[in-house]
Amino acid sequence: MKRILITLAAASCMLCACTSGNESSDPRVNSLMKRMTLDEKIGQLVLFTSDWSVTGPTMRQGYIDDIRSGRCGNIFNAYTADYTRKLQEIAVNETRLGIPLLFGYDVIHGFRTIFPINLGIAASWDVPAIEASARIAAREASAAGLHWTYSPMCDVCVDPRWGRISEGSGEDPYLGSQVAAAMTRGYQGDDLSDPVTILACVKHFAAYGAPQAGRDYNTVDMSERWLREFYLPPYKAAVDAGALSVMASFNELDGVPATANSFLLKDILRDEWGFEGFVVSDYTGINEMVCHGYAADEADAGRLAINAGMDMDMQSASYFNYLKDLVKSGKVSRKTLDESVRRVLNVKAALGLFDDPFKYCSPEREASETLTEENKAFARKLAAESMVLLSNDGVLPLKKGEKIAVIGSLADSKDDLLGSWRGAGEVRSVPVSILEAIREANGGNVIYAEGCKERGEDRSGFSKALTAALGASKVIMVIGENNNWTGEAASRSDIHIPGVQSELLRKIAATGKPVAVVLLNGRPLDLSAELPYAGAMLEAWYPGTMGGYAVADVLFGEVNPGGKLPVTFPRTLGQVPIYHYAKNTGRPYVHPEAKYESRYLDVPNEPLFAFGHGLSYTRFDYSEIELSSPAFSGDGSITAEIILTNSGERAGGETVQLYIRDLVGSVTRPVKQLKSFSKVYLEPGESKTVSFVIDKSMLEFYRKDMSYGAESGDFKVFIGGASDKVREASFSYEE
Ligand code: BGC
Repeated sequence: MKRILITLAAASCMLCACTSGNESSDPRVNSLMKRMTLDEKIGQLVLFTSDWSVTGPTMRQGYIDDIRSGRCGNIFNAYTADYTRKLQEIAVNETRLGIPLLFGYDVIHGFRTIFPINLGIAASWDVPAIEASARIAAREASAAGLHWTYSPMCDVCVDPRWGRISEGSGEDPYLGSQVAAAMTRGYQGDDLSDPVTILACVKHFAAYGAPQAGRDYNTVDMSERWLREFYLPPYKAAVDAGALSVMASFNELDGVPATANSFLLKDILRDEWGFEGFVVSDYTGINEMVCHGYAADEADAGRLAINAGMDMDMQSASYFNYLKDLVKSGKVSRKTLDESVRRVLNVKAALGLFDDPFKYCSPEREASETLTEENKAFARKLAAESMVLLSNDGVLPLKKGEKIAVIGSLADSKDDLLGSWRGAGEVRSVPVSILEAIREANGGNVIYAEGCKERGEDRSGFSKALTAALGASKVIMVIGENNNWTGEAASRSDIHIPGVQSELLRKIAATGKPVAVVLLNGRPLDLSAELPYAGAMLEAWYPGTMGGYAVADVLFGEVNPGGKLPVTFPRTLGQVPIYHYAKNTGRPYVHPEAKYESRYLDVPNEPLFAFGHGLSYTRFDYSEIELSSPAFSGDGSITAEIILTNSGERAGGETVQLYIRDLVGSVTRPVKQLKSFSKVYLEPGESKTVSFVIDKSMLEFYRKDMSYGAESGDFKVFIGGASDKVREASFSYEE
């Protein structure tokens, strides 16, 4: 076996092979840089996808030749230990320098064991569990030969029309930052060269979650202040947590596609945040700059991209086809090229690929560490924890043994449980559908009727569904969106429950039987029409491999639901964008009869379900807020405390949320802004004091002159179980 000429030991820290200056601190990288031809250097900046056949991954012969000639140094969508080993053998044994390939894949909410979609994961507000889910995903993916995941997705989004809202953590920059950092830690661990950890990729940089009209890939434009305060924090949190790759987004920002936006890729990412890893474009993003009207042709697009700080080209072949000439003609300097190549090689070194290029391909680990009972048990727990009880008049929890009618085609679908971006998750690995899990839990005492599909006008199943309802004591209706109605290129102009599902719900409710609705969907929906007919509504998202069991666990009260919405659910699409950190305006709506206040004529201002909302089978009571002092200054702090009591009869978890309002600022401030939260578990009758430290960092923002800091003045602090159910107190701060 031909191996790279290695003179010294591997990089010892995450990226001690830092990219600044002309030298890498890893001598193997420096040695390679001296010996690489122009083609070989460009090859390290090229990322091509593997193709797929029904039986597994295959590669177009052309790409194999490109690997062999050293002109393609990175591959995505190839996995399994055997297949990645085959490709790696070509790179290591058959190329001139033997530089190992980097294998990437979209491991978004699990690899083989699929967890709830990311919006659901965020609804758990359980940061350690989120980190643990990414760790499991990394273990499974790395055993299959993967080194690199295109996650965490850090796009803040306040527009439910956008199908990709399902892939992120919702509307809030603080919660989004906690999740982004946790996932990064989960993937990368403490040591990137450990073969059970993988490289994270922070995406989609930046503000991809704010496309105009919620249409995917559409134009993004916002003030720099808004961008920095509400959109950038989750990306930064992931970079601060050590993520060593970043993916640029498809959208433009301020007229410049993110793919060649040096303000984003250089000024913010490298100069301000000190990012030392490499940046990759999104799929064909470089060539798309021609369509954007920003590049004259694909060669021009390559020039603009690399000169703006884009290190690696995913799938455009712009670098593959044109970078050599661009360098030769001086349109791209050798220094720029070398910097990008060095960044990529440094990350390969940090992954330990120069020590052992095959360390990630492990058929043994792949067999023993994938879809284990332990992983599945964890997925079941996290799925149940992610579910949000939106409403409940007492129909839930169900009592085991009573006759239950289950209605809705989604109840019987294993496929929909997995959601979009399901990694290598397979329907055959899903043990049960929701229907099967309810049957199992209820000793078989279940009548099922499909009623209708999620889409279309077919009402022929209605009568059977009504008969089923009449023959049961309670009805569970599983309705929502088909899983491929969310994710990429799945924007909607209407956020109602599609098809005739709602009509069927009204008819079932008219039978007088209590109905609990279970929702499968990946975006906030307008549920105003359904809410009056549902005795209870459980938002189950797309709950993953073990989602069927997890739904049954919650329905029968084996698990007390504790999820909280990470995104506002509007009353109607006309309220969008609607989010909890809105400003007061000069004419806040306070007088019910007033006309000239900021309000609608036809609907209230309030959403249907506020950010942070989520019920439980028990009741949590909040005391008034106790502040340790009514004021603090400089780098000091005060403590805000409440006593939380479980006044119900079941044990349960509650996410206690803290919001702050700065009453007067050099620029206007939100009426409420999430600044901290704490997840607390209480036995029935138990009380706990929940304390938060309020310090300067919670008061900081981009001031009038764009400096980041706090301002003296009066503040309000709010603590509660949802953004619209809070206690409040006042304090002041002196700089
Ligand atoms: C998506 C990315 C994804 C990439 C690779 C693109 O279409 O926008 O999120 O990581 O494909 O699959």
